[in-house]
Amino acid sequence: MIPQTIDDLTLIPEKTGADKYIKISYPFRYGKFSEIKSGNYTFQFNLNGEIKTIQGRGEGWLDASEWLKRSAGNDWTYFAAGGYTGAYDFTGEYYVPCLPYDSNGIFGHNRFESPEVKNAFAAWDALRDQLDQLEISGLSKEAADLIGRIRNMSPQNLARRARTLHEIIGGPVSVLPPDTRHAEYDVIPLTIADGCLYNCGFCRVKSGRKFQQRTKKNILDQIIRLRDLFDKDITNYNSVFLGQHDALFAGKDLIEFAARKAFDLFEFQNAAIREPKLFLFGSVDALFRADDSLFHMLDKLPYETFINIGLESADTATLAQIQKPLSREKVIQAFQQMMALNKTWPRLEISANFLYGANLPDTHMPSILELARNGLDHFYSKGTLYFSPLETIGSIQAVKDTFMEFKTLCRLPVYIYLIQRL
Ligand code: SF4
Repeated sequence: MIPQTIDDLTLIPEKTGADKYIKISYPFRYGKFSEIKSGNYTFQFNLNGEIKTIQGRGEGWLDASEWLKRSAGNDWTYFAAGGYTGAYDFTGEYYVPCLPYDSNGIFGHNRFESPEVKNAFAAWDALRDQLDQLEISGLSKEAADLIGRIRNMSPQNLARRARTLHEIIGGPVSVLPPDTRHAEYDVIPLTIADGCLYNCGFCRVKSGRKFQQRTKKNILDQIIRLRDLFDKDITNYNSVFLGQHDALFAGKDLIEFAARKAFDLFEFQNAAIREPKLFLFGSVDALFRADDSLFHMLDKLPYETFINIGLESADTATLAQIQKPLSREKVIQAFQQMMALNKTWPRLEISANFLYGANLPDTHMPSILELARNGLDHFYSKGTLYFSPLETIGSIQAVKDTFMEFKTLCRLPVYIYLIQRL
């Protein structure tokens, strides 16, 4: 579509990005969107007219390959690319998401305090004011419609839409599975079960509720309301996160129901981004309970599936200290089951989380190495281990050094888990 210029603005009502998520070292956009250039900033909008990304350039911006992105939960993330040597080694991506809220991030400083980011948000405020006053009668229908959509998505409306999202699924998503990085964290959340089995002492993201499945009717209601909420922009989604903390324990029947209904009603067969993905968390006991028929069912789904299991440690003293009600033997058995399933099912990846903390027993890290190095005969590309730093991590440089040393020794991909909410 030919760009249209008005005042100092350049409008492109329809742009098309890549139709598949890829790992790439420069800013890349996916799906269909609209764009307005104003001064040194490029603002991109989803198909509902909601602001999606802001990127600066030249003087006054931090790095040409870095950008701000807004989530459906109305949080902004600063995607830092340059300046972090080895970002890929730490995260498995060529960027590091810097979050405006407390997380376990160990990278860099709070970008949201930098004058460059503050100026970018000020430029966004100014653009909204300008669009509100713009005379649009001389514009093409597409450009006028775009301005109308953006005007409609005021900050109050965006906040309200995020509240509606949370209300539909039963509350904010306190943490996304680390594997959702494969879809740049753009997933539609759908709750099929609340709470979790263990309510571990160390955990900061738990709801504290007992595990409880949702009914099929409730899941269907959520899907219909989510479809209406995401509206035109649903075409830019191809991935679902089945929440909350242990969707795997909800069992084969409910997982299949939710995954298939979501695929059909969100019309993923027509999505602007190909290769749909399904993400969920699972507990050790859910993994033990899952039999072959569940994995057969997942294999037949029109998604690639990623299940993230919280193992935390294979050390008795550590499991006791973090108050995780699991034995070392169960963790070892779950790890071996993960490896076996990853070999058997090509469209499934089971990943695992382990904790990192300065105050954990000395026996903790060797217990993981026993599994992920001594227990494996060669390197395996499936079965990613995510390290989740606790609050007491000691010096950041020490974490990075320990992590890199550990990564070199492990015979699985190993990355840091950056806890992100939605
Ligand atoms: S680590 Fe998982 S199982 Fe344990 S409390 Fe947190 S969410 Fe629940």
